[in-house]
Amino acid sequence: MHGFSVEFYDDFLRFYFSHSSLSSFYGFMSLYKAGDMGKSAEFTDERLRWLEERGIDRDSLRCVRQVHGRVVADASSFLPGDEPEADGLFCTDDSLVCGVTVADCMPIWVFREDGTAWGIVHSGWRGTGIAALLADALGEGRKVAVLGPSIRSCCYRVDKERAEVFASAFGRDAAVRKADGFYLDLVAANRGLLERRGVSVYTIEGCTCCDERFGSYRREGEAFTHMLAVCARG
Ligand SMILES: [Zn+2]
Repeated sequence: MHGFSVEFYDDFLRFYFSHSSLSSFYGFMSLYKAGDMGKSAEFTDERLRWLEERGIDRDSLRCVRQVHGRVVADASSFLPGDEPEADGLFCTDDSLVCGVTVADCMPIWVFREDGTAWGIVHSGWRGTGIAALLADALGEGRKVAVLGPSIRSCCYRVDKERAEVFASAFGRDAAVRKADGFYLDLVAANRGLLERRGVSVYTIEGCTCCDERFGSYRREGEAFTHMLAVCARG
């Protein structure tokens, strides 16, 4: 056990570990009330204010140009303004904070237990599998992952074809058949991928679609609230 704790506040959540080798890592995620954080590397006024309130220097933040793919970039390999197309970052530099934006897609944090490498990905149905690629990018050794809030199987209705493709790729419990149709389960899909690699998995409960503490593309429509999830070592 790693002494995993999550705290919800008005406009953000944070988690931390009390286990000694992981206790320097932390994760934050903005909530609906923080306002729109902008997509990917875009800085809105709300993002600037939120980062300042969290004590995060804007120049230390590394984001990527998110495209719903499965590329994980090295956070040390580019400078702000020159972000690569990717949907995740891995990092070994204490001075950097890695961030992804989400609104129904799942933020997934992965940490090496020896404290030498960490990262975060943005994973929706199209990008599912990227969490495993991040775990691989962190190298050999014991790792811990945190699955963040996302649209959950209560709300993530899809057509039969997508459900079948998803279940054949990520396991039968990655899609759920209910009386009124088919639903994806991103938690089951990612838990399976990571646990098969020997990664310990923790989950932050919350469906971004039906729980109004969160921003959601599906609930809010085109003018939805991007949330920013960040990963760092303090
Ligand atoms: Zn829901």
